[in-house]
Amino acid sequence: MGMAQRPLAHGPIFRLTLALVGCALFGGLVWLLAATFGPVRRDPHNPPIHRFEGVSGPAAATVVPPAIPADWRDYDQGGPSRLVILLTDEDSNWAGLAHGLKSIGVPFRITRDANEAGHHRVMMVYPSISGRVLTPEALRIIARHPETGGTVIGCGIEGGGLEEVFGIGPAESSREHRKLRLDPAHPLLAEFTDPLELELPVNSADPDSALTMLSHRPTRGRVLASYEDGRAALVHRAVGSGHAYALGPDVGHLLLKGYNDRQELLSRSYANGFEPALDTWLRLLRAIYREGEPAAVTLHTVPGGRPLSVVLTHDIDFTRSIVNAPAYAALEREQGVAATYFIQTKYVQDWNDDIFMNEQAGPILQELLAAGAEIASHSVSHSRVFENFPPGTGTERYPTYRPFVQERLLTVNGTVLGELRVSKFLLERLTPGLEVQSFRPGHLRNPRDLPQLLQATGYRYSSSTTANNAMTHLPFRLMHGRATQAVTDIYEFPVTIEDELPPPLPQRLGRALHVAERIARYGGLFVVLIHTDSTGEKLEFQRRLTAELQAKDAWFGRLQDFAAWWVGRDQVELDAHRTADGLHITLKAPLPVAALALQLPGTGWRVDAGEAGLNADGSQVRLNLPPGTHHLRLHR
Ligand SMILES: [Zn+2]
Repeated sequence: MGMAQRPLAHGPIFRLTLALVGCALFGGLVWLLAATFGPVRRDPHNPPIHRFEGVSGPAAATVVPPAIPADWRDYDQGGPSRLVILLTDEDSNWAGLAHGLKSIGVPFRITRDANEAGHHRVMMVYPSISGRVLTPEALRIIARHPETGGTVIGCGIEGGGLEEVFGIGPAESSREHRKLRLDPAHPLLAEFTDPLELELPVNSADPDSALTMLSHRPTRGRVLASYEDGRAALVHRAVGSGHAYALGPDVGHLLLKGYNDRQELLSRSYANGFEPALDTWLRLLRAIYREGEPAAVTLHTVPGGRPLSVVLTHDIDFTRSIVNAPAYAALEREQGVAATYFIQTKYVQDWNDDIFMNEQAGPILQELLAAGAEIASHSVSHSRVFENFPPGTGTERYPTYRPFVQERLLTVNGTVLGELRVSKFLLERLTPGLEVQSFRPGHLRNPRDLPQLLQATGYRYSSSTTANNAMTHLPFRLMHGRATQAVTDIYEFPVTIEDELPPPLPQRLGRALHVAERIARYGGLFVVLIHTDSTGEKLEFQRRLTAELQAKDAWFGRLQDFAAWWVGRDQVELDAHRTADGLHITLKAPLPVAALALQLPGTGWRVDAGEAGLNADGSQVRLNLPPGTHHLRLHR
C-alpha cells in the first residue's frame, strides 16, 4: 500500500483557514451584540440627547461686557467717622481691601488727599509710605495724626522718615517670610484664640511666586505679630490717646489672592475645616477701627445679628440624586428650613452618566419649589475640565449645544457660556416663573472668566469654591477675570462643608459642628453641600446638624435669600457721630435690607428715635431698612 494520499480537506492550511474564518465570524457577532445591547462608544459630536418637544433656546445671544477698571473714587464719600484709606498707589490691590472691609462691615472712604484723610480719626495709608508716593506735607499730616488722638495704620513703610512715629527702625525686606504669629497677650488681639488665627500664612511657599515682604525692628513700638524669624510684621506704638500701627504684609494683595482663587498653597486645608487666614486680618482692622473711633458703628455679618448664617445646598449630578431630592426637601420643610438645589441639566448621555434631565425632571423641580427650595444651576456637562473650557460664542442653544464628556479628563464641544446659558434656560423653561440666580460648577472647577460670564448670562450669585480655598468664611465680591483691576456684580458664597472627602459624612458631625462654632465667633457663613445620591445616613446627618445649629440660634436660608440680603447690606452707606451722651447714625440703603444689625461702640445704648430693636446689653441694634435714608438716634 502506497502512501495514502492525504486529503487536502484535512490539511493544516484548511484548518487554519477554518479557524480564521471562525474567529472572524465570532468577532463580528460580538461586535454586533455589543453595538446592539452593550455600552455604545458614542460619536462625541453626535451624542444621544433628550429632546423636550418644541423647546429650544435661549433665543437671545449673550454679550459679554468689557472689563471696566474699578475706580477708587466710587468710594470717596462719607463723613469723618469712617475709616479712611489714604491711597498712595492707584494700581495697587486696593479693591481687595475695599471688598474685605465691606465684608467685615467697617464703613470706609478712599481718598488720595492727605488733608481729607486727616479729618478721619482712623487712617490707613495703603499700600506704601515713602517720599516717592507722598508729598512732604502729606507725610507731616500722617506724622501728626497719632499725636492728636488719631490712629494711623501705615502699610509698607519704606521711607518718608516716619520711623519714629511708628516706633520702628528702617524697613528690611525679604522673600523668605511665609507666616506670622500674633501675640495674644496684646489687648487688641484678645478676640483671637484659635491656633489657626494666631498663626497666619502670608506668603506663598513656592519660591517662584513668593513676594517680598517688609519687616521692622521695633524701637519704641510693641510687636503684635512677627514672622517665623522673629522679625516684626506688625508693630504698635501708643502715642497719648493716639495709635500708630506699622504693617508689613500687603493685606489687599492677600485678600485678592483668596478672593481670586489664587491662594498658592497658603490655605491650610481644602474643605471641611476652619481657615481664617483672611478673616483674621479683617477682624484686626475692625478692632483697630473700634479702638480709634468713638463713633465706630459696624454692620453685622448675619441677618438679625445672629451668630451664624447657614445655607444648606445640594448638588444633583447623578441619575439617582434627582429622585432622592424630594426626601431632602421634605426633611427641610419638617425642620422649618429651606435649601438650594444646584441641578445639572443632564440631557446629554456621555461617559459620566445617563440622561436625567428628561420628562421626569419637570415634576420633581416643581415639587422642590413647592417645598420652598431654590432651584439653581449645576452646569450642563459637569465636566472635570470645565476650567479649561473656552468662553464660547454666547449663541449656544438647547438642543444644539451638546457638550460631551468623553473620558474623565476629556470633554468636547463644551463652552463656559454654553454651560451657563443653556442650563439656566432649561431650568427656567421646565419651571415657569422661576429665575435661576445661583450657579455652582461641577467639581468646583473654576474658569478664570467665570465671574464676568456669570454676570453676562444673568446670574447673580456663585458658590464655586471652598471657604478654605478662599481662606475666608465670609462672602465676597468677584473680580473680572480673577484679576486685580476690574470688578463684577457677582458675589461668591464659598462652600464650608462637603460630603465627598474622607471620612464619610456621617462620621463628621462633631467636626462640622466644631467648625461652625469657630466661625460663629465672628458671624461667618456656613455653606453645607450634600449630594442627594443617597438618603439614609446622609439625611440623618443633615437632620442632626440642622437641629444642633438651630439650637444655637443660627440663621438659616436659601442661598438666594442670604445673598440678596448680603448684596443689600454691601451697598449700605453708614455714618455716625457722637454727641455729649448720644450717638446719631445715618444709613443710606439703595436696596431693602431686613433685620440688619449694627454693632455699637460699647454697651448700654437706648434708642431715642427711629424704629429699632436693641439686644440685652445695648451693644447691638437691629432694624429693617427700606430703600432710602434713615436716621437713628441713641443715648446712654
Ligand atoms: Zn456636582
